[in-house]
Amino acid sequence: MNEEYPGVAAGQKLFGHVDRHEWNDWRWQLKHRIQTWEQLIEILDLSKSDCAAYRELVDTYRMSVTPYYFSLMNPSDPMDPLRLQCIPDIRELWAAPEYVDDPLNEERDMPVPDLIHRYPDRCLAMVTSACALYCRHCNRKRRWKDRMRYGSRDSLLQMVHYISLTKSIREVIVSGGDPLMLSRDRLEWFLRSVKDISHVEILRVGSRIPVVLPMRITPDLCAMLRKYRPLWVVTQFNHPREITAEAARACEMLLEHGLPVCNQSVLLKGINDSYHVMKDLLYGLQRISVKPYYLFQCEPVRGTEHFHVDEDAGFRIMEDLWGTISGLCIPRYVYDLPGGKGKLLLHPASRPSDAIKEDLT
Ligand code: SF4
Repeated sequence: MNEEYPGVAAGQKLFGHVDRHEWNDWRWQLKHRIQTWEQLIEILDLSKSDCAAYRELVDTYRMSVTPYYFSLMNPSDPMDPLRLQCIPDIRELWAAPEYVDDPLNEERDMPVPDLIHRYPDRCLAMVTSACALYCRHCNRKRRWKDRMRYGSRDSLLQMVHYISLTKSIREVIVSGGDPLMLSRDRLEWFLRSVKDISHVEILRVGSRIPVVLPMRITPDLCAMLRKYRPLWVVTQFNHPREITAEAARACEMLLEHGLPVCNQSVLLKGINDSYHVMKDLLYGLQRISVKPYYLFQCEPVRGTEHFHVDEDAGFRIMEDLWGTISGLCIPRYVYDLPGGKGKLLLHPASRPSDAIKEDLT
């Protein structure tokens, strides 16, 4: 536990004394995740009248925060950008009608359960619904409720069978939930089964584990993943404070095993919707050799309205970035069009606004 992180004192109250060995053990971290509404009430110091609402909130949308990620945030500051990402907010229950469970119509494009096949050359396999930390802005919140249906051997077998019959698929995106929450053996079985299919050339693993539980990236896990190269790891850092020594080490270990790491951020109100925060994030990613790949416009998903940043504001941030920072660390700003119509690239001109011209001089 790094004593300099802002949430350490609050964490010690919740978990008591933890020695370094336990803290760095991913199993200990998973076992001690903050998951109940009683813990939430303690953290937020809620009044009795608020308790019922927060209980409903946690019943509706699961909560899970790893002790490690908790230690990074300031739990008593409601505007803390890391707290906003993981501590349930009562606004999740106030959805406007245009905010729906599945705006991308993912459920429509599933030839077999939990496998999305939308583009001819690639498909996305949702191999589990479990995550180490449930991001409040997640676009698959609808799937958090069903704890048992995903990741069964039968369901994974159906996916493998479909992929083997569909020769146009050359890339399989292994997603979830978080696929690195599967047991090592089940994950390896799935990767091997897919990679054994002759027309599958590339694997991509989408995981937020390097950000929220970096101690899970072990030499043993990396050695297993390495066997199925070319395999890309796509992670999600959203704020520069998430780029810690621990997270940097996890990414470094993946890279040392020949596993390229790239990043998909989501543009989130109060978290990274400013030029300066975004610039620090992108520079930070470049420093740890993680390629910024996409910046996603937040989807109109029920329970995420308070994170929405309008496209004009996102566009202005991108314009300013284009005018000032190295192209090597600029992601593509995209909007996944509702209804599953594909990605729209929002590409600004390289024209900095007056507000950041001082950065150029
Ligand atoms: S890790 Fe990914 S799937 Fe899991 S809650 Fe966060 S955004 Fe959603």
